[in-house]
Amino acid sequence: MRVGDSGGTRESERVGTVYLVGAGPGDPGLLTRRGADRLAIADVVVYDHLASSRLLDLARTGTMLLCAGKSVGHCTMSQPEIHQTLIEHARAGRTVVRLKGGDPLIFGRGAEEAEALRSAGIPFEIVPGVTAAVGASATSGIPLTHREAASAVAFVTGHANPEDPASTHRLDWPALARFPGTLVVYMGVSHLGAICRTLIREGMPPETPAAVVESGTTPAQRTMVSTLAELPRVASESSMRPPALLIVGEVARMRAALNWFEDRPLFGQRIVVTRPSGESERSASVLESLGAEVILAPTVQIGPMEECGPLDDAIDQLSAFDWLVFTSSSGVRFFVKRLDERGRDLRALGHLRLAAIGPTTAETLAAYHLRADLVPDEFRSEALAEALAEQAAGARILLARADRGRAVLRDELQHVAEVVQVATYRNADIDALPLGVAERIAEGTVDWITLTSSAIVRRLHGLLPGPARERIGREVRLASLSPVTTATVRELGWEVAVEARRYDWPGLVDAIVEKVGAERGSVG
Ligand code: SAH
Repeated sequence: MRVGDSGGTRESERVGTVYLVGAGPGDPGLLTRRGADRLAIADVVVYDHLASSRLLDLARTGTMLLCAGKSVGHCTMSQPEIHQTLIEHARAGRTVVRLKGGDPLIFGRGAEEAEALRSAGIPFEIVPGVTAAVGASATSGIPLTHREAASAVAFVTGHANPEDPASTHRLDWPALARFPGTLVVYMGVSHLGAICRTLIREGMPPETPAAVVESGTTPAQRTMVSTLAELPRVASESSMRPPALLIVGEVARMRAALNWFEDRPLFGQRIVVTRPSGESERSASVLESLGAEVILAPTVQIGPMEECGPLDDAIDQLSAFDWLVFTSSSGVRFFVKRLDERGRDLRALGHLRLAAIGPTTAETLAAYHLRADLVPDEFRSEALAEALAEQAAGARILLARADRGRAVLRDELQHVAEVVQVATYRNADIDALPLGVAERIAEGTVDWITLTSSAIVRRLHGLLPGPARERIGREVRLASLSPVTTATVRELGWEVAVEARRYDWPGLVDAIVEKVGAERGSVG
């Protein structure tokens, strides 16, 4: 049942529903589809600090986002305040999502919130989430059960210090020490030493394998495997911090064979993607699937031309051309969009031969069921010019491109063909980087910045404050798409750490993977 108006502000006689939604352990991809559906209809989201902030993007713009905290130092609401907030918004007729880390009912006080809602007569729904133990198990390569090693698993809270006699929440540690299976201790890192000592004192063998998994399922995940006796020292030497889980049992041994997540080629690399939004999301997901943390920081934005006259003239005179040449995916998209706006369709291109600067542009053509007749072996203007000069000598060529950029293609082709160049979309500089990006660069908590055009390099240089600029080329390395981009980097006094051998996004990703792989190889 969903009540409340779409704006969510009108006081209503009817009460809204509260959805207690499990956000999963950290990786935003681990939210359930139902959770995403509920977020999309929420008027109000009350979220925990642990839930990934990327999940909040799933709410509509205008949704009220309230942080309930749940982590030291963050805007923390008390439990009664949380209950009160949920009840008040629901009573005002709003649809409320209470977004909680992991699963709402595992050490999440979700049951207390549901009880409070029931007493207040507010309808609620509980949407389960991937609990930290299950998420961290998958990504640390430590199975919680195994036919040969563990036929039971216990989730335990380590919130209270077992060596503190004053603690009111006493667990039956002698029973846990004899537990015939895997123990997963939530909230256990602060009392790691006391917990391990207590288990040993109560009879668990000190050589029992044990692991700590910090920030499981995220690009910041760290895992330490040792024995029950040694783990507190090992974990403290590596300063393991919450959120982290302690996993005790034979299964911890299996990580050696099952680790896959931290072995991915770009695991742990923090990469800033400066491409315009619209292009950057797909680029980001390639990096993420290789294990990188991606920070989106568009420096230029693309949009339709403000003055469409020349483009419209070109579209109206398509029959006068033999070739239509695209130098980017955006060029294709904006061209087709304008064609449509002019009341024409793809049949207007029927007589034309099509050229694309590289496979990505050709793929974008293919998305419109258009096949590129020509894609050069090397993806840059010079190579395209050379290939066209061979195949299109004497022809009438229309170059569809951005409003700024190099004119190499036109200059080269002019000698051999009749060329008209038209801008199909606009490149505009962004006014400021997203919040926190310059700070992260200045702190050196970024490993790479990807640069895919000269305009992007210049804009980035202009946007970065001094302290951030100084890190470039040292802790923060630059990855360049092509020699042309690299030349601009050098003009500005920076140096690149890698340059793509193939001048497209997959080529740039390969270059970073190769470099990171070589460095890891030489260390380990
Ligand atoms: N309801 C949550 C647990 C809340 S208690 C769930 O189902 O997962 C908070 C504890 O969960 C943390 O102290 C830590 O022990 C664990 N935790 C949460 N996220 C984690 C993560 N990404 N990696 C490791 N442990 C995590």
